[in-house]
Amino acid sequence: MHAMNTAEILDLKKILSTPKKVVIVPHKNPDGDAMGSTLGLLHYLKKLGHSATVIAPNDYPEFLKWIPGTKEVLIYEEDTIASEALISEADLIFTLDFNALHRCGAMGTPIENSSAIKIMIDHHQQPDDYATYVYSDVSMCSTCEMVYHFIEMMGDLELIDVAIGEALYTGIMTDTASFRFPLTTSTTHRVIAHLIDVGVEKSDIHNAVYDTNSFGRLQLMGCALNNLRFLEDFKTSYISLTNKELDAHDFQKGDTEGLVNYGLSLKGAKFAVIFIEHQEESIIKISFRSKGTFDVNTFARTHFNGGGHKNASGGRSNLNLEDTIAKFISILSDYKSELNS
Ligand code: 5GP
Ligand code: MN
Repeated sequence: MHAMNTAEILDLKKILSTPKKVVIVPHKNPDGDAMGSTLGLLHYLKKLGHSATVIAPNDYPEFLKWIPGTKEVLIYEEDTIASEALISEADLIFTLDFNALHRCGAMGTPIENSSAIKIMIDHHQQPDDYATYVYSDVSMCSTCEMVYHFIEMMGDLELIDVAIGEALYTGIMTDTASFRFPLTTSTTHRVIAHLIDVGVEKSDIHNAVYDTNSFGRLQLMGCALNNLRFLEDFKTSYISLTNKELDAHDFQKGDTEGLVNYGLSLKGAKFAVIFIEHQEESIIKISFRSKGTFDVNTFARTHFNGGGHKNASGGRSNLNLEDTIAKFISILSDYKSELNS
């Protein structure tokens, strides 16, 4: 873990004491924690008088597009020239909710080439070393909680208002699956309590994120559950979705988010996986989830070009869907005893 030391905190306070041009970046295919943390930080930095912009590598799901500041978000894929100008002119670049520049796709190159001071705030395993200042803590439930602690380190907790609060609440809620994953601590709940005290309407946020499903998404969920398989010998469940199935249910960005967790809710499942055909990139996108000690970060890194956290990770495969699943099942035999321990 790299908690920031006192010297680094003082450095950053000094840097932030005069107006700066700031770019704030979430990872590609931003989720609730990525958008919540970048927008929460955006509102805080603007309150300090900085000129700040959130630039997302690509578009993000509709169910996050109510978060305050959404309208100001630039999408690199859609506004590449404007985005690259801001990146090359920036004094500071904050990278949030990821720790390796390839996680923001093509946008990684202009960031790498920019002479801006880079600040990483992230809770994934094994950070790369591109950033000048690194606040990395794998014990944190979410980057949103880390942004709260960052504001705390800067001595500015009293600046937290409804806009910052709504953004941070969103990512803490989504990355903890509504405060139930193991990394949810009493401190997490104290942070949430503070956000509620400043006026965050928590029920409205749950409603906006979880109760705005399209008909197609619910039907796709049915299709995914229908495709669920359980490998009892390995305590492993998996789901697959083909392009055809996605198209048949009018797939929209974000529709498959969270589906993998249904596999893990099966009694006896310790390891759950979802394989999704990705038309644009002609790859299979894979999500891994586990309960207990089985380390899916290492599993994804070793076999599927990915990574993430111990109990939640992602990766990809260049094989077709059928061959990817066959490869996965053949690998599982090496983990049989671990999965049954
Ligand atoms: P998801 O399965 O929801 O896409 O991702 C689960 C977790 O693993 C997230 O925290 C995400 O940031 C991380 N993750 C997903 N895909 C990758 C990947 O390809 N590489 C790495 N390093 N992390 C990933
Ligand atoms: Mn996160």
